[in-house]
Amino acid sequence: MTDLPWHPLSFDVDGVVGDIFAHFAAVAEAEFGITGLDFDSVRNYTQLDKELGLPRETIFKIVQTMLFGQWAMRLKPYPGAAEVLTRLGQDHRLLFVTARPDGSPVEAWVRNLLADLPPKRIEVRLVSDPDHKAHLLAEHRIRAFVEDRLDTCHLIAVKTSVVPIVFAQPWNRVRHPFEVVRNWSEIEALVERFSGENIAPAAP
Ligand SMILES: [Mg+2]
Repeated sequence: MTDLPWHPLSFDVDGVVGDIFAHFAAVAEAEFGITGLDFDSVRNYTQLDKELGLPRETIFKIVQTMLFGQWAMRLKPYPGAAEVLTRLGQDHRLLFVTARPDGSPVEAWVRNLLADLPPKRIEVRLVSDPDHKAHLLAEHRIRAFVEDRLDTCHLIAVKTSVVPIVFAQPWNRVRHPFEVVRNWSEIEALVERFSGENIAPAAP
C-alpha cells in the first residue's frame, strides 16, 4: 500500500493547534501563584519578561514546567482543531512542524488529540531553526503553512513557494502581507482553495 499524499496545508502547533498562552497562564497560576496575566497586550513573546512584568528566571521556570512532564499533556487545543484536523486526515497525511525543544512530548500531545486517526497519518517534526522549517515544508510540497510567528511567515515567503497563513494572535497584530485566519472554521475554509492548486499545479 502506498502512503497517502501529504495534506496541502501544514501546521505549527503552539499558538495554532494548542492555546499555548492559556497554558502558560494556567501553569503560572497553579505552580507559581501568578494571576492576572494579560496576554492581549503581548506584542513580542520573545520578551515576555518585559511584556508581562515578570523576572526572566520566573518565565524560564514556567516555560520548563509547561513544556515538560505532566503539564505538557494538559495543553488545551483551540475549539474545532481536533475535529477539523481529523477530517483533513481522512484522506491525507498531516505534517506538523514546531519549534518546541527536543524532549518535549508535543508529538504525544498531537497524537492524543488526533487519536481517531491511524498513527501513520500524523508526522510531528521538532525544528527550532526557521530556515530548516521552510525547507522541510518545501520538501513535502506543502502549499500553505498556518503559523502564529510573523518572522517565520516572512522567512517561509522569502525562501519557498509555500504560502504562509497567519493564525491571529495579539503578538502578530501588526501590518503584514499575509492572509489571516482567526479560528479553525476559517482554516477549514482554506482547504478547497489549496487542494485545488494541488490538483492543477501552475505551469513552470
Ligand atoms: Mg507557534
